[in-house]
Amino acid sequence: MSARRPLIVVANRLPVSQGDDGWTASAGGLVTALRPVMDEVGGAWIGWDDNANSVPTRVDGLGCDLHAVKLSRAVVRGYYHGFANRTLWPLFHDLLARPVIDRDLWDSYLTANEAFAEVTAKVAADTDPAPTIWVQDYHLLLLPGMLRDRLPDARIGFFLHIPFPPPELIARLPWRDQLLSGMLAADSVGFHTSRFRDNFLRSVARVKPDVQIDGDVLTMPDGRQVRAVAHPISIDAAGFAELARSEQTEAELADLRTQFQGRHVFLGVDRLDYTKGIRHRLDSIEQLLDRRPDLRGRFTFVQIAVPSRDDVKEYRQLRTQVETEVGRINGLFTEPGQDVPVHYLFRAVPREALAAYYRLADVMCVTPLKDGMNLVAKEFVTVQAATDGDGVLLLSEFCGAEIEFGNDPVRCNPFDVEGTSLLMESALHLDLADRRARIQRLGAVVREQDVYRWVTDQLDAAEQGPEGS
Ligand code: UDP
Repeated sequence: MSARRPLIVVANRLPVSQGDDGWTASAGGLVTALRPVMDEVGGAWIGWDDNANSVPTRVDGLGCDLHAVKLSRAVVRGYYHGFANRTLWPLFHDLLARPVIDRDLWDSYLTANEAFAEVTAKVAADTDPAPTIWVQDYHLLLLPGMLRDRLPDARIGFFLHIPFPPPELIARLPWRDQLLSGMLAADSVGFHTSRFRDNFLRSVARVKPDVQIDGDVLTMPDGRQVRAVAHPISIDAAGFAELARSEQTEAELADLRTQFQGRHVFLGVDRLDYTKGIRHRLDSIEQLLDRRPDLRGRFTFVQIAVPSRDDVKEYRQLRTQVETEVGRINGLFTEPGQDVPVHYLFRAVPREALAAYYRLADVMCVTPLKDGMNLVAKEFVTVQAATDGDGVLLLSEFCGAEIEFGNDPVRCNPFDVEGTSLLMESALHLDLADRRARIQRLGAVVREQDVYRWVTDQLDAAEQGPEGS
């Protein structure tokens, strides 16, 4: 890592939460990854919080100042629940739901991004030496542009944590020009994969013909240059390996092994989001149980569904659909007095329990219809590799992780319900030595490209800008 400037991270949320014991740092991956950098160079984190007025400037365990952006309830509704999650999210995930095109939502998005820009520009102006400003994700696509207007010489990096769609989809947005201009005001624009980066480059070529594109460097009409980079986000691999072997995880695993003795365990771990392919997955499971009556009573599918975005109609509907389907499958395939085939947990589980489920699983079903990266896949292979496991990763070809993992997962097209069901069946019959070797290779990929490497690559790109190419 080269010598760094102070760092200002700007994200929708602050990395803290308020509990009975006061404010504490969240355990999110980005926070963990940034902690060493923040401890070394210092800096600030800017984000929105419901309780903006009471957020402290410092919280134990975070080496940076916190600055809360204040947004009215109406603006949060329009900007976050509305434009971010009902317009951009479905559009950037290949129209898996219909994007809402609504000028009021756009106005809230503008207002919110302006509020972030006000706070960020002030914090940056008060930071000495001049900081690197690192803007995160689809909530803040306009922010680099608003910052460039206020601070022409600022060093600004931007990273998109979700897919970037092909130009035909971006073109549907009435505000496509403003959104791309906002992103292009950064010195570097980061994506998980070269596919998303190339979609971005093609979108700029279509929407903004006055921008020159040469490889991954874009030159604006005024001569300013921007670099588009692809760096896959990852996990704290060493931390997960340690968690996998911890005493508490071992104890949880022992309980689970007793509970699921004599059964093949398939596992799904997702936020309850329509992009994750949970309904398609359940259909594939149903076909498997239908085709293989001998598996009934010897098979369990555990789906951990973490509650998500229940302020948005499409998410409430999805919950009803998933729960209806789970009930239907259990109704079809449960024998009286025996365990149900589908165990559905509508909640987040503690880290140790999650690691124990990863260790338990014979087949981990990561089958999103579209996903920027998918950290669950990386966590699973890391936990399995650290404990000499032989679990199989069934992985959708529509998530970012698929590119790094090559042919070691069993790759599936989740839209092909029957094909995926057949692959689930074949995963049960893979040779043990082959399974072990695959998991070891997958674990090595994540160890090599962990989240610390991702942070280093991103900050290098932001600090060096186009000169780094
Ligand atoms: N996760 C969690 N508690 C749970 C289930 C999942 O904290 O009960 C975490 C999981 O460890 C992973 C994250 O949620 O780090 C999900 O990240 P992913 O990239 O797979 O999907 P996203 O939710 O960001 O779309």
